[in-house]
Amino acid sequence: MIATKAYAAQSKTTPLTPFDFSRRAPGAHDVQIEILYCGVCHSDIHQVRDEWGGSIYPMVPGHEIVGRITKVGDHVKNFKVGDLAGVGCFVDSCRVCPNCLSGEEQYCDNGMVGTYNGREKDGTPTYGGYSTQIVVDEKYTLKISDKLPLHAVAPLLCAGITTYSPLKHVGVKKGQRVGVLGLGGLGHMAVKFAVSFGAEVTMLSSSISKEADAKKLGAHHFALTSDAETMKKLNNHFDVILNTVSAPHEYATYLDLLRTNGTMIVVGVPPKPSEVPAFNLIMKRRSIIGSLIGGIRETQEMLDYCAEHNIVSEVEVINIQQINEAYERMLKNDVRYRFVIDIASLK
Ligand code: NAP
Ligand code: ZN
Ligand code: ZN
Repeated sequence: MIATKAYAAQSKTTPLTPFDFSRRAPGAHDVQIEILYCGVCHSDIHQVRDEWGGSIYPMVPGHEIVGRITKVGDHVKNFKVGDLAGVGCFVDSCRVCPNCLSGEEQYCDNGMVGTYNGREKDGTPTYGGYSTQIVVDEKYTLKISDKLPLHAVAPLLCAGITTYSPLKHVGVKKGQRVGVLGLGGLGHMAVKFAVSFGAEVTMLSSSISKEADAKKLGAHHFALTSDAETMKKLNNHFDVILNTVSAPHEYATYLDLLRTNGTMIVVGVPPKPSEVPAFNLIMKRRSIIGSLIGGIRETQEMLDYCAEHNIVSEVEVINIQQINEAYERMLKNDVRYRFVIDIASLK
């Protein structure tokens, strides 16, 4: 067993505090990774506070993990000691259902094993990346290029793939108009990818203070969602809207911004449902779809794409001791645009 230092939530109402536990020794197909950086996703807050129900405590959050391999099992083929490696939102899945076989393990019919707040096949709770090391089957481990700054790569493992995957799925390309709703961790990656795929991108934000940043990220236009006049002008405008908002809001308002056959992709998970009135869909044959992170193959494709096109996340590096304050700041919409924990502060 491997002694591991971490920060954990002991209940949905308590702050994260230091927590020591043991990881399994690496099996034949496992790699052991010394974690260097871990991004802070809004899903960490939802789950720590049990906003989705069924949270398991103690909970060590963190699913945007990058580090270096310190040990490999006897049958590991694709990694060696010293390699950079990444771990995203899941560490296992059934491997035999149609979704696993087609490389979309995130939709595993038998339930993927979450990197944290999940259970391994033997029932052991999983603990995430706010910790000094992790042991993962090589099949669920990503290769990380040494071309990009590691702290800025970490958020690609969730915020990156969650926005890359659906933009690819709906075929975003040059000549299309894409609206990104919500400029946070996911939203800022969505802007970078949509611009990189050649679309004309509008940032739809509730924060006027983010206008200059949106433009710096590459957005061609900025629209303040509380400005009724601006919103009216954008009626029937977009081919695609990628909705990343974490707080309750009306989907109907934004469906109206889609042109005929337009699609709203929902990736944000507000704690309360929103109504979807039939008329907002049928009058322009609009669709609304959801999307969950991405499979291992596509995550690797995204990481390679980012290395090739020099795409990384905009981050504020924090020490683990600042994590509770970072959560409060995210809830106050005060993050530009991803907190990343320097895991050296845990050692
Ligand atoms: P985040 O960094 O906190 O960003 C959320 C954004 O929502 C904010 O930056 C803000 O943008 C906007 N917002 C609008 N109204 C708000 C309000 N009342 N309070 C706070 N923010 C408000 O969060 P994130 O990490 O990008 O995650 C976004 C959501 O996606 C979360 O619900 C998360 O759980 C979910 N998620 C889903 C997946 C998936 O696979 N589907 C993966 C990862 C995360 P503006 O200031 O521009 O309005
Ligand atoms: Zn996440
Ligand atoms: Zn499966």
